[in-house]
Amino acid sequence: MYPARAVVDLTAIRDNVRSLATHAPTAQVMAVVKADAYGHGLVSAARAAIAGGATWLGTAQVSEALALRAAGVHDVRVLTWLYAPGAPLREVVEADIDVSVAAGWALEEVAAAARAAGRTARVHLKVDTGLGRNGLTPPQLVELLAPALRAEAEGAVQVVGLWSHLAFADEPEHPAVRAQAEVFADAVRTVESAGIRLEVRHLANSAATLTTPAVHYDLVRPGLAVYGLSPVPQLGGPEAFGLTPAMTLEAELATVKAVPAGHGVSYAHQYVVPQDTVLGVVPLGYSDGIPRHASGDAVRVGGPVQVGGRRLGVAGRVCMDQVVVDLGPGATEQAGDRVVLFGTGADGGPTAQDWALAADTISYEIVTRLGSRVPRVHV
Ligand code: PLP
Repeated sequence: MYPARAVVDLTAIRDNVRSLATHAPTAQVMAVVKADAYGHGLVSAARAAIAGGATWLGTAQVSEALALRAAGVHDVRVLTWLYAPGAPLREVVEADIDVSVAAGWALEEVAAAARAAGRTARVHLKVDTGLGRNGLTPPQLVELLAPALRAEAEGAVQVVGLWSHLAFADEPEHPAVRAQAEVFADAVRTVESAGIRLEVRHLANSAATLTTPAVHYDLVRPGLAVYGLSPVPQLGGPEAFGLTPAMTLEAELATVKAVPAGHGVSYAHQYVVPQDTVLGVVPLGYSDGIPRHASGDAVRVGGPVQVGGRRLGVAGRVCMDQVVVDLGPGATEQAGDRVVLFGTGADGGPTAQDWALAADTISYEIVTRLGSRVPRVHV
């Protein structure tokens, strides 16, 4: 058996979506399942989200959307939004997947794909309301309306959505949130007054779903919160929003051994044991997504590891396949004993957010970077 695994609680995902729906009672929920459902396993997580009431799924890459349909996920709408010229859009249209359009060439390629498929492509126009990322600037949006209307008249596309993404959703009081919301409202008026009948307008990610009802519109697009992590840790942990972290990363100790005071630990002896002690080796390393930046030394506590009810920090450098913990003098653990790197946080256990703090990053990165070598066990 592989000595480590990410246990994914699908009931938690289902219940998190239910909870998100109560935060946005007037909107439908699109569960964002890109990046292998933030590391949780694309298809299993998608099905759990649907069980919780998600009526839409969102993916960045076209391949992820196609994988959902290929796995038999047919009972919900799927939107995909990030592709370059030459993407297999005919397959997308044939698989009944909604597609985002964020440039003139994209509209042309989607329309051509729809003609080739003999179908009408459902399109969501993406407007850059201030994030400065993918999306049509407001002048580009205006320019695209005439070709979009022509493609509609011809039956190649139907513009069903207008959407955007926020730059400061995790700072709900930031003036940029309101500024982007105003640009979005203008864009909605522009598109509708051109005669386009929008089925869904959508702007809110997890943070906005939980904190900013003014931008819920018809559809909210939470990702992180679906997996039970707080997108606004400064405002509250998952429990504050009725969410439960779905993933527990656990392992068995591979080695336990006594070493004398002064023994160096891991590369470059960044940590030296201050007393006679017992070391435990955890078989997970940076190739598995454990951030090397969460290494520990005499001053800096490394990423947290729960061992036998104790919370310890990674001792020394995180290696490619393993990390070491100083179990302390007289520790009675043995090889094969279970350790937890992160999970629900119940009983003071470590969380993905704790690892984010230890590695100077965000919990998104902790779960999405979990390596493909680590088995996902869905329960
Ligand atoms: N919408 C878009 C366009 C995204 O890129 C993302 C993820 O980054 C989301 C929604 C979901 O964001 P979050 O995980 O913060 O809820």
